[in-house]
Amino acid sequence: MADIVIVGAGPAGISAAEVLCAKGLRPILIDEGARAGGQGYRRPADDLALDMNRLMGSEAQRYAALHRRFEALLPAIDYRPRTLVWAIDGKQLHLLHEGKAETLAFDKLLIASGAMDRVAPMPGWTLPGVFTLGGAQVALKDQGCLIGSRVAFLGSSPLLTLAAKQYRDMGADIAVIADTTPLSAKAAAMPALLRAPRTLLRGLWYMGASLRAGTAMLHGVTPVAIEGAGRVEALVLRDAQGRERRFACDAVALGYGLKPETQLADLAGAQFAYDTDFRLFLPEIDRMGRARPGLYLAGDGVRIGGADAAEASGALAAHAILSDIGQTQDIEAIRQLARQVERLRSFQRGLALAFAWPKAQIAALPDSVTLCRCENVTIGEVRTAMARDLGPVEVNRVKAMTRCGMGRCQGRVCGPALQEIVAASAGSDGATAGRLRGQAPVKPIALAAAGDGA
Ligand SMILES: Cc1cc2nc3c(=O)[nH]c(=O)nc-3n(C[C@H](O)[C@H](O)[C@H](O)COP(=O)(O)OP(=O)(O)OC[C@H]3O[C@@H](n4cnc5c(N)ncnc54)[C@H](O)[C@@H]3O)c2cc1C
Repeated sequence: MADIVIVGAGPAGISAAEVLCAKGLRPILIDEGARAGGQGYRRPADDLALDMNRLMGSEAQRYAALHRRFEALLPAIDYRPRTLVWAIDGKQLHLLHEGKAETLAFDKLLIASGAMDRVAPMPGWTLPGVFTLGGAQVALKDQGCLIGSRVAFLGSSPLLTLAAKQYRDMGADIAVIADTTPLSAKAAAMPALLRAPRTLLRGLWYMGASLRAGTAMLHGVTPVAIEGAGRVEALVLRDAQGRERRFACDAVALGYGLKPETQLADLAGAQFAYDTDFRLFLPEIDRMGRARPGLYLAGDGVRIGGADAAEASGALAAHAILSDIGQTQDIEAIRQLARQVERLRSFQRGLALAFAWPKAQIAALPDSVTLCRCENVTIGEVRTAMARDLGPVEVNRVKAMTRCGMGRCQGRVCGPALQEIVAASAGSDGATAGRLRGQAPVKPIALAAAGDGA
């Protein structure tokens, strides 16, 4: 019999595996990372001797518990670390494991591929020393390094204050925490944020910790430029009162929230719909995470919800698999999980308003700003191509004309900003601008390996 395969050993994938194992099944759990835990609960190599209790702060217990649960699960699953799923073709996965290509047939596929940073371009964002916020966290949690000794945090995300605290605790100076969304938007989002009071309190506590440490915290800023001769020397912004301010720093972490990693879901045949709160195209799923027969999606890879929602939605998707293969179900447990997922995801909708994607700021960026870093395409080149060609209001057409989104990252970095530039240039909205279609390989692989596995 073909197998149940889970892609992603983060909180969603691990809790899905637990539910399946509890019913005597032995799922295959694949992850490209060397160690389980996913993004937020990333586990560094032991020889780094990082103090994860200190780094994880109030999440330390949950972090340790997830890793304990995973260790307990290991004998009951077929765990395949360091294995990238780079393509899906019917009921077959294309894998790359330590440079070797393989294929794997599946019967039920649960994708829990997590999220990545959503980034807004700005003048100077290609300078050495500029990282995504998640990249700055990965450097710390995976390799025990800081991206700089005096770091500026810019964007619109609750993770700005969290990452700044982690950096401060590990010895960095924080030049500024600057958020493009005004405080009034945070106040307006409060009813939705109250749906997860524990997470809200944690966020307020991180803000308080920055204020207590005397860190400059600004809201409602407009990014002007990242300056430097050859590498980052300063972040320049306009504050909410319209004053230009310059913060000397040697690194900048940029983060405008997270976006689901949906390429695999796309290749597996999920349908997508535009979400006006997140301003993203998201895969369509039912309440339990079914996207189409045999395909299940869970965690931040389908809806940003945070680690707790990821766990609950992973368990829920596993229950959907059990139900679809005719196993008896604990209806009350399923109801509770569904309620929890719904509550936490609506909290995240509140966060999407409190920490808004700066679409107007992106639309107003000058022509000279690089939009696609892989193919070196400027915003001006996209605007010029659109003005030259009648009717190209759709991002895939713009990609074909300009190569924007055609490089190594396959538009995973520039895609959301491209969508806004196309929408603004065409006078349309994000939904009409469309989404970059997922393409294999979802991440760069050696050509020889692709030939082996195809
Ligand atoms: C960079 C980053 C840092 C974060 N830091 C924090 C934090 O400090 N605190 C916090 O509360 N939240 C943090 N978050 C959010 C938090 O990670 C998530 O809410 C939570 O981890 C979601 O769990 P998940 O199981 O859905 O996905 P994840 O935990 O992201 O797990 C997804 C897994 O899928 C694997 N994967 C993806 N694609 C493939 C593929 N093609 N082939 C094989 N494996 C694949 C990945 O390697 C990963 O291990 C962070 C998110 C990101 C992106």
